[in-house]
Amino acid sequence: MTPPRRQPAPRRTAALRREAVLAAVPVAVAALLGAAGPTAAGTPGASGAGDPYFPLSGNGGYHVRHYGLTLRYDTSSRHLDGRAVLTARATQNLSRFDLDLTGLKVTGVTADGRSAVFRRDGQELVVTPRHTLVAGRDFRITVTYEGTPKPVTDPDGSADGWIPTDDGAFVAGEPQGAMTWFPANAHPRDKSSYDITITVPQGRTAVANGVLLGQRTAHGRTTFRWRETQPMAAYLATATVGKFKVEQYTTPDGIRVYNAVDPREASGAAPVLKKLPSVLRWESELFGPYPFRSAGAIVDHANVGYALETQTRPLYDSAPDLSTLVHESAHQWFGDSVSLTAWKDIWLNEGFATYAEWLYAEQHGGDSAQKAFDALYARPASDHLWAFPAGDPGSGKNIFDTPVYARGAMTLHELRKAVGDHDFFRILRAWTAAHGGGHGTTAQFQRLAEQISGKRLDGLFHTWLFTKGKPKNA
Ligand code: ZN
Repeated sequence: MTPPRRQPAPRRTAALRREAVLAAVPVAVAALLGAAGPTAAGTPGASGAGDPYFPLSGNGGYHVRHYGLTLRYDTSSRHLDGRAVLTARATQNLSRFDLDLTGLKVTGVTADGRSAVFRRDGQELVVTPRHTLVAGRDFRITVTYEGTPKPVTDPDGSADGWIPTDDGAFVAGEPQGAMTWFPANAHPRDKSSYDITITVPQGRTAVANGVLLGQRTAHGRTTFRWRETQPMAAYLATATVGKFKVEQYTTPDGIRVYNAVDPREASGAAPVLKKLPSVLRWESELFGPYPFRSAGAIVDHANVGYALETQTRPLYDSAPDLSTLVHESAHQWFGDSVSLTAWKDIWLNEGFATYAEWLYAEQHGGDSAQKAFDALYARPASDHLWAFPAGDPGSGKNIFDTPVYARGAMTLHELRKAVGDHDFFRILRAWTAAHGGGHGTTAQFQRLAEQISGKRLDGLFHTWLFTKGKPKNA
């Protein structure tokens, strides 16, 4: 039975929201100027992916096809040794390019097997290979690094990235924390396959995305080898370490499940995790086939204040309630499989995952989605819910705030009422079918909804997603 929905809210604590501070996004002008000027054969790749909310996240000039990460984490000293092998393809002739990496010490960089010149500039690791990288060709970059990873503080005050815990680390990367533990092209526009190998002290478990290929203990250490073959945004990668109880099984649908649960959360988590296969099956019926081959959960015991939809294996900072499990599972379709091209479209992740919670309650003996909608719509125009439009949060500070989640879900409910249930669910399935494994934008979603329903929907989207303040009539 679904616990009655209190109110749609991001998966964060009130304390975090209260502590939210405005942090200016540093713009590394130096990174834009560059040390070596353009050569005849190549030019420098951009220092960012062009996202105004996080100008330095991601980089220009190449696409990473695959990350091979080999990590060793000492849970007592909190020291990380890392080696990242990136297989990338140049999208322009590149004289040099950037990776995102913050903190840590880089001890060497090679490009196609030959040592490359590198320097650090804020969160940019600037790499100058000996030869121009040719547009359309693959190249291989190896970065060795070490140090004590620290989380970054997001514009809304939350911690993001490699977050140490009392028995390991809670590793979440949305929106910008991937760079705290591996050199990355860290913007969701760039999706890649991953091999993540993590060595930790014997007795600890290291959990990443996808399938566990093998695990081996020698000399007091255990190495876990993980593989995610489906394209994944860097922020959805994890390498969470702790003392975990592990459970593995394959669902009747052939999905390989790996759950890792901190024993302190085990009794709270068990009844909810038991429902994972039925939640995934229910979501598959509504949203289209489950996009990945593996699934599961990591339930840590950490004071982070939010959960994250890490691909195939959501990460919880404590035992989740059912509605949170439904939310993070829905993100596997909305956010993980169909990814953002820009952070301003975040409602395509959070509004959809929140609406999945409403639908789940509605179809499992809880409140109807209409009732959830009405309770929100009853809030006065002065309520924070109406502080900014969900389709245009305005800055990175707002991307996980209530209007994105709640008004995003309200937009979907308005759409459902406008086109009817039959077309609404056809739209959701067509969306994941057309954009799964890739990306989608708000404009594309509106167009698809219009095509399928045969209705003009610009008024609806304009009112619910882009108009300031409380919409006049619902
Ligand atoms: Zn979410």
